[in-house]
Amino acid sequence: MKIAILGAMSEEIAPLLQKLNHTTKSYAGCVFYHANYGKHELIITHSKIGKVNAALISCILCEHFGCEIILFSGVAGSLNESLDIGDLMIAKALVQHDLDITAFGHPLGFVPGNEIFIPTNPELNDLAGAVAKELGINLLEGIIATGDIFVCSKAQKARIREVFRADACEMEGAAVAFVANALNVPCLILRSISDKAGEEAEIDFDRFLESSAKRSASFMLKICEALS
Ligand code: SAH
Repeated sequence: MKIAILGAMSEEIAPLLQKLNHTTKSYAGCVFYHANYGKHELIITHSKIGKVNAALISCILCEHFGCEIILFSGVAGSLNESLDIGDLMIAKALVQHDLDITAFGHPLGFVPGNEIFIPTNPELNDLAGAVAKELGINLLEGIIATGDIFVCSKAQKARIREVFRADACEMEGAAVAFVANALNVPCLILRSISDKAGEEAEIDFDRFLESSAKRSASFMLKICEALS
């Protein structure tokens, strides 16, 4: 199967590139890494941070490279007290927490024609759950809130948690899932916690980015191994 593995930052895909022999291709100003992994062909890249970048690259991975599934691997801030640094979660659904036309009486995260919550692929989520169980890894399946904001205050964090019951926040996932759904490509969004999205989250982020990105990438390869 032709599988896309996407991160937002180079640090999120570095653990994969270190493990796999790869060749490179440039397209639309980005570098795409090709690698074989078991019976699968992997196309690995990082989109750069934010929803617009993530949407563009997701589209390219499907339409230009013909990837049959998209797997996102990276880090996120936790909004759920039970999610600690390094813990892994997958998104059952995602929401754009900064999409705001509430001035017109619409709920936060909603624009006409779209749903607020963007689902991911249940079969891929079940597979990830089964792989985690086999490895004895705790894997939360929950809600991820995506926005073009690094969340680093108690107030911002509480608001996103309250409005969407979200478990983690990041800056790309909802865009990836939105594009994948529109193009009928199954997707999985996996994140390892780098920070707790409160005051001074940027300090934890810098401290734990590498280790959390590595946890996410290693688990993602296990998921690839389990894919038929
Ligand atoms: N240090 C980087 C910026 C990182 S932005 C630089 O200077 O270039 C944070 C990245 O990690 C985003 O890709 C986002 O998806 C994820 N992330 C981790 N913690 C987050 C948080 N608390 N809020 C939002 N995004 C977070």
